[in-house]
Amino acid sequence: MVQENFSQNILRVAVIGSGPSGFKAAEALLMQTEVPVQVDLFDRLPTPYGLVRGGVAPDHQKIKGVIAVYEKIAQLPGFRFFGNVKLGETIQIEDLKARYHQIVYAVGAESDRKMGIPGEDSMGSHSATAFVGWYNGHPDFREEKFDLSVESVAVVGIGNVAMDVSRILAEDADILAKTDIADYALEALRKSRVKTIYLLGRRGPSQAAYSPAEIKEIGSLSVADLVVDSREVELDEVSRADYADPENKKNVDYVQERAKFGEGTKSKKVRLRFCASPVEIISENGRVAALKIEKNVLVSDENGKAKAKGTGQFETLPVGLVFRSVGYRGIPLMGVPFDSRAGKIPNEEGRVVASDSKKVCAGEYVVGWAKRGPSGLIGTNRADSVSVVKNMIVDAKAGKFGWDVAHPEPHSIEDFLKRAHSRPVSFADWKKIDQMELEGGRRKGKIREKFSRVADMLGALDSPAGVS
Ligand code: NAP
Repeated sequence: MVQENFSQNILRVAVIGSGPSGFKAAEALLMQTEVPVQVDLFDRLPTPYGLVRGGVAPDHQKIKGVIAVYEKIAQLPGFRFFGNVKLGETIQIEDLKARYHQIVYAVGAESDRKMGIPGEDSMGSHSATAFVGWYNGHPDFREEKFDLSVESVAVVGIGNVAMDVSRILAEDADILAKTDIADYALEALRKSRVKTIYLLGRRGPSQAAYSPAEIKEIGSLSVADLVVDSREVELDEVSRADYADPENKKNVDYVQERAKFGEGTKSKKVRLRFCASPVEIISENGRVAALKIEKNVLVSDENGKAKAKGTGQFETLPVGLVFRSVGYRGIPLMGVPFDSRAGKIPNEEGRVVASDSKKVCAGEYVVGWAKRGPSGLIGTNRADSVSVVKNMIVDAKAGKFGWDVAHPEPHSIEDFLKRAHSRPVSFADWKKIDQMELEGGRRKGKIREKFSRVADMLGALDSPAGVS
């Protein structure tokens, strides 16, 4: 559908999701000079920043420094934030189409992959996603319970999320106390009796998904030793090609060096194991009692990539908790195409395509993990969102729109939300929540005391005294 005389109008864009990819798309739209644009950035939570707030570990405050960039984007003319507005609940796609010329899905990958082994649903078997959300005060995970009275824990997968989970479990609670960790999580971690954390990679050290800086951080913890078995870090033939990559080489060299330290003397141990796949969670009375693992060897697949092959040699680790950290996974949005195999929104260079016909859905775009799948660092989103926005501007200039916009006036969305009795949170509102959290943190000698319930956030906004 072509909209006549669009060039005389302002391009109104709704961006759904205010994590790194959403903010970067908003910035690219507002900074380009070819078409006048207004951006409304929506989030289902009252708080912005997605995984930067709810995913980045509390002891990684430097990474959260990127928020200063997002705050500047929020000041750009033409930008508005609508927090506490959930697509599919508060508002439907059709309501957006009545008000915006283009929609950008920047919804990330909110769920997680499963290991697919027997016993995975036992009590005490959790996703890393839930644990991360819990210690970060994410309202979705606030009520999760983790039995930290157990002595041994297994973390399956050796990506950077697994590093975060292991570090938070092994870290000195006094260090965490100064961060923005959720208060209830700190309390639980202070009482934790976890002494041993098995960190399980199904392939070798040359194929580890963690970054060199992240594994070194585990090796530098004040109260835990990183223990590596020298036999598991010897370089095999299949790994030579991966070892040639400088980052992989750093990872291998580091763990080979660590293996020389042996058991160490600290009270907690992070036991990093390679070529070990989980095969079964053994439970007693429905609770995790052990994890059975199989030793692997590495073989080359048809593309020459190192893959794990079971040897039939098994071992049982006596653990009371299992965290699977084997990758995030996108979840479908009502009315938006979804590739359930890949767990993302099907697209051609960010232009959403229909699941069956593969035809471009004009006017609908996708950025970030919802587009590419759950890999890459926060910084990866910049170039990615910029390239999708280029396509959006090309389409707008060519008049390639998907629908007629009945109510392009900026106040129309506000009127709609009022009629829906919704309580949208503006960026100015968020800054009030932000100030209250910082103040709460100052009182407790920590960086920030997060609100972890939506009702508390809204209550604090609407009562002059806030909540304590
Ligand atoms: P990831 O990097 O994809 O790592 C997933 C890990 O799970 C890999 O070790 C993978 O092994 C393993 N795995 C997958 N399926 C498995 C199975 N069935 N059994 C056993 N192991 C399995 O995912 P992530 O850790 O969730 O991280 C997601 C993204 O966020 C990454 O790009 C990461 O760098 C980023 N991130 C960065 C930071 C940071 O910079 N501090 C922090 C957190 C997250 P294979 O390699 O054998 O598949």
